Amino acid sequence: MKIVIAGAGIGGLTAALSLDAVGLHDVRVLEAVPEIRPLGAGVNLQPNAVRELAALGLAENLAELGAELTGLGYYNHLGQEIWRESRGRASDSRWPQLGLHRGMLQKVLADTVRARLGDTAITTDARVTGFAPLPGGGVEVTVGHRAGDRSADRILADVLIGADGLRSAVRRSLYPREGEPRSHGTAVWRGVTRGAPFHGGRSMVVMGDGHWKAVVYPLAVRPDADGLVPVNWAVSRAGPERDVPPGPADDGFLDAVSHWRCGDLRLDALVTGTGTGTGAVPSFPLLDRDPVPRWSFGATTLLGDAAHAMAPMGSNATTQAVLDARSLAHALATHEHPVAALAAYDRDRRPRMNRLQLLNRAKGPEVVIDLVHERAPEGFGRVEDVIPAARLAEVAHTYARAAGFDAASVNAPSPYGRPLRSHLPHTTVHGRTPHGR
Ligand SMILES: Cc1cc2nc3c(=O)[nH]c(=O)nc-3n(C[C@H](O)[C@H](O)[C@H](O)COP(=O)(O)OP(=O)(O)OC[C@H]3O[C@@H](n4cnc5c(N)ncnc54)[C@H](O)[C@@H]3O)c2cc1C
Repeated sequence: MKIVIAGAGIGGLTAALSLDAVGLHDVRVLEAVPEIRPLGAGVNLQPNAVRELAALGLAENLAELGAELTGLGYYNHLGQEIWRESRGRASDSRWPQLGLHRGMLQKVLADTVRARLGDTAITTDARVTGFAPLPGGGVEVTVGHRAGDRSADRILADVLIGADGLRSAVRRSLYPREGEPRSHGTAVWRGVTRGAPFHGGRSMVVMGDGHWKAVVYPLAVRPDADGLVPVNWAVSRAGPERDVPPGPADDGFLDAVSHWRCGDLRLDALVTGTGTGTGAVPSFPLLDRDPVPRWSFGATTLLGDAAHAMAPMGSNATTQAVLDARSLAHALATHEHPVAALAAYDRDRRPRMNRLQLLNRAKGPEVVIDLVHERAPEGFGRVEDVIPAARLAEVAHTYARAAGFDAASVNAPSPYGRPLRSHLPHTTVHGRTPHGR
């Protein structure tokens, strides 16, 4: 079975490794950019994703790559604690939660794909521009190259996986009237700065005043010779529902949050330590997508952000792309026909992700920060006087269950660890030889 994946992001690369692991080795990843470079800032891998990547033999690489996070706290803008919980192996989970650099994770995955599937498994400078279902099954994928180059290759495949991110071309072909991703009026500034360890060195801090919010976590645990670690931070400003164009530097964010403190965490030291050191950090709009009624159409499906781009609440996007990849490979390994497999994957993942997209739009577990701010904008003596502890626990647990990283779900064996595909007959694209480069 020949499988083409559009996009060598975290989702596409994990899909390639997951397919290889179930015995589907004829996989080609097409990536639009000319070179995979370590772009982006920090991402979280929740324990359910770590379990799945460990099943692919990547546990050691991951442990070396980032920081194991053991705590998460929500605070108001005065640094008063609203909710704090243990995370990963410090809670009841058998698997850790990791904070790591997105680009480094992508590089490890790309290197592993090349090592396991061959040097030609990933083609860069290959932008999927569209596809057409073939009458007897399979798809013809159209691939363009450099901007301005009008020539296009056509590649035949039994299955096309659209893992091409927020502005997915595969999704656009499936939902041509959908238009651009949705902006909800929130602008985000982010960066990675070398900073002093805070809150014991393994904690994630989310603090806010209902309008401004800061999310901070370390990307390494061991300090360097100066006693510093790389710290990921993102500051966001909620605005009226309107488009927020990617902006030039806006020092307004410095004025708004740089005086914030939370225990031994000082925001000013972080946000002024990035870029030019003057706060010249460009903002970009927070975007998401609406849930859709279908991801799988015949031999084509969507995965990761292409399927369910969601507002960045609860630190989930990368985790869910990994879960999608494992679910899809499992479905292809356990169904005789790829179309049935893609439908099964859709049934397994889409309803949950539809729900999570909406939960995230409603601010996910971080909604408690807004609730507390509405009720006690000047701060509080005891948080229990503002919001019952049971309500805080309910919000946290409901979200963890929806995202699949509650301890019971994480500690269960992987639902995707099933037999090799060699038990099933293989199909090809009508016996035709795929062409294209
Ligand atoms: C450059 C970059 C930086 C990011 N930085 C962060 C960050 O700092 N923090 C964070 O939380 N999230 C970040 N994200 C988003 C995060 O990676 C995803 O939300 C999550 O990991 C899910 O991954 P994905 O594979 O579905 O999508 P992505 O990681 O977005 O990967 C999609 C891939 O598809 C490629 N692509 C796009 N269109 C086409 C096409 N038509 N044909 C072929 N290939 C195509 C893209 O170049 C990209 O490599 C970043 C994404 C990108 C692309």
